[in-house]
Order: sequence, then structure tokens, then C-alpha cells
Amino acid sequence: MSEPKSQNIFWHGANVTHEEREELLGQKGCVLWFTGLSGSGKSTVARKVEELLLKRGLTCYALDGDNLRMGLNKNLGFSPEDRTENIRRVGEVAKLFADSGAVTTCSFISPYRAGRDANRGIVPDGRYIEVFVDTPLAVCEARDPKGLYAKARAGVIPNFTGISAPYEAPENAEIVLKTDGVSVEDSAGEVINYLTAKGFIPGE
Ligand code: ADP
Repeated sequence: MSEPKSQNIFWHGANVTHEEREELLGQKGCVLWFTGLSGSGKSTVARKVEELLLKRGLTCYALDGDNLRMGLNKNLGFSPEDRTENIRRVGEVAKLFADSGAVTTCSFISPYRAGRDANRGIVPDGRYIEVFVDTPLAVCEARDPKGLYAKARAGVIPNFTGISAPYEAPENAEIVLKTDGVSVEDSAGEVINYLTAKGFIPGE
């Protein structure tokens, strides 16, 4: 979907410039796009990043796959078409949050490279940070925090990424997290160090 269906619509801009907004907030908005298998650690690391930033008085908001499927995306399932639309909508929401100045974490399996690249394309240059949570399938399956792998192996859940549906790993992610044998705090710390080094948030 490229052109809006509506025609008589007009963009209404803010009273403050984007630069002023970020000056006032003391941080820069960005999209931290976590991608990886179910159970790889996307939500856990994202929530830790959110917690650590909020406790420092910074603005961060976590968009999470299951949560959005309970509302905005409740009419979507896991077919390839629905997954694509799911990720497209979330990309647009993330873009708005980032525009508001928030560090915006997105935790979605987002198995298709094309969908992730499309979202990178709608966010201003340099503000889309792909975080590949590179946890091997065997480790994710051993963790099985939601019991989904057991169900997928039993054939109860169809189209399950890594088992019966594909996962296209990123080739040029800005951040690659190896979580096996690494603490959640250290994984979140890697992300926060990146944000600091790139000037999205001030140093401590
Ligand atoms: P996802 O959001 O990718 O589906 P979750 O965050 O729900 O995955 O689950 C990841 C599981 O792995 C949790 O049970 C978490 O405690 C565990 N885990 C162990 N080490 C790490 C780590 N370094 N980072 C993230 N999760 C970890």
C-alpha cells in the first residue's frame, strides 16, 4: 500500500520544530527494532532497556507483538499476508513514537527481511536500529518461556517460526545480541551503550 486511499487530507505540522522538541526532551527519538525467534529474548531485553531508561528520566516505550495483536492488530493472524500487514502497521506506529522523541522498542519476530527493510525505509536516516537477538533455535526451544515450541512440535500451532515457518536472519543489523549465557542486564547494557555512543541519549 503506497498512496493513501483518502484524497482531501492535509498534513498538519507541530508548533515546535523537531530539533526544538528533542532539545526540550534531552534525547533523540529512534526505533530499536528487535528481531529474532520466539523466546530469543526480544521482549525481555526491550523491557529492561525501557526500565533502565525510564529510571534515568528518559522517555522510552515498548511496542510488543502479543500486546499489539490484542488491540490494533486483533484482526490479523500468522499467515504470510497477515504477518506482513502486522509489521507494516507496527512500523507506522513506531515511526510516530520515534517522532515524538521516544526511544521506541519494537519486539516482533518479524521474520521477513523485506518487511523489516520497508520499516527502515519509513524512519528518518540513522534512527532505525535493527537489533538481531541471535539466540540459536535449540536455546530458544530449551527456554520455551511460553510453551509454544512444545505445541509447535506437537503440530498444535501451525506456521511457527523456526519450526514450520521461515526466519530470515538480518545481514546488517546495527546490534547483534548473543544472549546464551549472558545476563539480561548485560544484553540491555549493550543496547544502551549503542544509544549513548550514537548520541540518542546523554551519557550517565
Ligand atoms: P521473545 O520476546 O524473543 O519471544 P522472551 O523475552 O519472551 O522472548 O523470552 C526470552 C527468555 O529467555 C526469557 O525467559 C528470559 O528470561 C530468557 N533469557 C535468558 N537470558 C537472556 C538474555 N540475555 N536476554 C534476554 N532473555 C534472556
